Amino acid sequence: MTASPELRADLRAEALARWAEASASPDELARGRTDRSGDLGTAEPLAVVRARDVPQVQDVLAWADARGVPVVPRGAGSGLAGGAVANGALVLDVAGLDRIVSIDPVDEVAVVEPGVVTADLDAAAAEHGLLYAPDPASAGFSTIGGNIATNAGGMRCVKYGVTRDAVLGLDVVLADGRLVRTGRATLKGVVGYDLTGLFVGSEGTLGVVVGATLRLRPRPVGQATALATYVDVEAAARACAALGAARLRPSLLELLDRATLEAVDAFTGSDLGGDAGAVVIAQTDGPEADDEIARIEKVLADDAVSVEHTSDPDRTDALLAARRLALPAIEARATALIEDICVPRSRLAEAVRGVERIAAETGVRIYSFAHAGDGNLHPIVTWEKGVAVRPPEVDAAAARVFALALELGGTLSGEHGVGTLKRAFLGDELGADVLGLHHGIKAALDPRGTLNPGKAI
Ligand SMILES: Cc1cc2nc3c(=O)[nH]c(=O)nc-3n(C[C@H](O)[C@H](O)[C@H](O)COP(=O)(O)OP(=O)(O)OC[C@H]3O[C@@H](n4cnc5c(N)ncnc54)[C@H](O)[C@@H]3O)c2cc1C
Repeated sequence: MTASPELRADLRAEALARWAEASASPDELARGRTDRSGDLGTAEPLAVVRARDVPQVQDVLAWADARGVPVVPRGAGSGLAGGAVANGALVLDVAGLDRIVSIDPVDEVAVVEPGVVTADLDAAAAEHGLLYAPDPASAGFSTIGGNIATNAGGMRCVKYGVTRDAVLGLDVVLADGRLVRTGRATLKGVVGYDLTGLFVGSEGTLGVVVGATLRLRPRPVGQATALATYVDVEAAARACAALGAARLRPSLLELLDRATLEAVDAFTGSDLGGDAGAVVIAQTDGPEADDEIARIEKVLADDAVSVEHTSDPDRTDALLAARRLALPAIEARATALIEDICVPRSRLAEAVRGVERIAAETGVRIYSFAHAGDGNLHPIVTWEKGVAVRPPEVDAAAARVFALALELGGTLSGEHGVGTLKRAFLGDELGADVLGLHHGIKAALDPRGTLNPGKAI
């Protein structure tokens, strides 16, 4: 919708008068304008509504649909692809709907509102000896609704799957305000199309998630962790692929390159890798954790400079915290375009070599770390700290990273989604026919195109 300034002012006044939870304060507009990607989009929000309950979400969407007003659903705004960037739309913030409605320890199912913080759900599950498995590094502040909309991944996904694998059913408000329930509360079920799966990862373009029925798992007892160092990142990536080939299944398998290690050590005061060219952190869980880590260590040791293993919780926490802080550590020294390509695990070494070649040829500094067990590589394409406008050579380097991912049989995004930042490259991966199917689905669910326009597809 391209509204005149007068129409925008009228719509804003109408929204502010209709909902006590609507705001157009400078702070709210500045916060709602962007997300963690840093993309400022085209314009500040029309207004921000911090939803009070589900009927209000329905009313906001019906009101907006009737007037052709675009709406951007929002959780914690921690997204890295620009999915929650307002671009002048009405921002519908559902983070305040944050009740854990129930946890059923027998059925191992949780029912939650969308604003529940990911780590809070896992902590509540832990009280019943259960685990909410998806654990993005942002788990301490991202919301379940945002995780569902982006199909978030994390470190444990190598063993327990991504968010999609944990979602059994959804309550969704459609673009016209209707509330529907998809899926089920049972572990199995084949009635109807998989609409739940369709909403997962749809980045707020098909409906607003207002409730979720989620699968929990038994919380594993026992844990063991190994740290292996390598001369370079390629050797580290080869070792990770070798684990897969040896049919070993760690519960976590992370890789950090030299540049990332330096950033983490400077940021946290740690000495994670000494002078290593790269490190791999592997973890196992369950009653066989110690045996499994011993087998994993053997494979990791093949080409390694050193391997250590620990069952000490403090050392383990320090290693995992270092991995979780990789992104903030890099951002402390540079401005970053955060990419998350995913390639077949067997091609991870080629991917890291290709990224290093792109960095060398373009002169752009690229840090790399990876959920190596999933082939999910984060090339962090950087430029000078404090410079807000992304230099063209950074975009050029990122475009080459995307092309590399596709060349290796991979995908543009393993877990962050497309948002606004990767949209221009979507056709390269999907092709015209499949992209056309996406537009057909969008038109069926959101005929007026008001839900998060210009994102994801
Ligand atoms: C330090 C850091 C580490 C991160 N690590 C990871 C990681 O390991 N793995 C990973 O996958 N991501 C990671 N992320 C990215 C981000 O945290 C995830 O994408 C997360 O799922 C976004 O959740 P959110 O609540 O912040 O959603 P937002 O950023 O608010 O929204 C993200 C998208 O979801 C839509 N949306 C939000 N809520 C709803 C809803 N209720 N209904 C419909 N649509 C909705 C928005 O419109 C937008 O398109 C990281 C981010 C940071 C800053």
